[in-house]
Amino acid sequence: MQCPKERKITLIDGTLSEALAVKQCPDCKGTWIPAENYKSWQSKRSHPTTAATLIPKTLDVEFVQSPLDTKAALCPDCGSYLARTKVGMKSPFYVERCFSCGGIWCDRGEWDALETMGLHTAIEQLFSSEWQTLSRAREHLALEKQATIDRLGAELADRVFELAEALEKHPSGDFGVAYLMRRFENFTQELKSPD
Ligand SMILES: [Zn+2]
Ligand SMILES: [Zn+2]
Repeated sequence: MQCPKERKITLIDGTLSEALAVKQCPDCKGTWIPAENYKSWQSKRSHPTTAATLIPKTLDVEFVQSPLDTKAALCPDCGSYLARTKVGMKSPFYVERCFSCGGIWCDRGEWDALETMGLHTAIEQLFSSEWQTLSRAREHLALEKQATIDRLGAELADRVFELAEALEKHPSGDFGVAYLMRRFENFTQELKSPD
């Protein structure tokens, strides 16, 4: 079997996470995970079975993307096009999968990154539109959170997050939100009309 990214290189036998038999490229360090090997490895582990329960431990890992990550490739097993899905936020990378045979391709370092994020046990879920939507919403929230910290400073931002969480959980939390908004409306009106 040849490397999907560099067709002249032949893949060699390897192992991931001590028990998952894979094919590795000795040159680009990419990894081909045959569908059957992945399924049997996955079945021996607790793994999320729906996209909604696949909650990443972290949205981002420090990660140097392989120069071959964005290169389009064909399945080394059956020759179909490999589909890709985006993972990670500030340092995004793409995991590839063959929809014909179900095999998975990870470029150099991607498996370890998936493992750090806690996503390696349910890679097929990363390709669902549900996960993509959830993932974008999480990214958006994380960016908004960071912007709040940048503007308010960590201490006040933390109090805002704490308050938001408390109001979210409280059955009449919307009264608190309405109070804050009214209060803020009056405040901005005063600023606009100094006399
Ligand atoms: Zn290679
Ligand atoms: Zn295939």
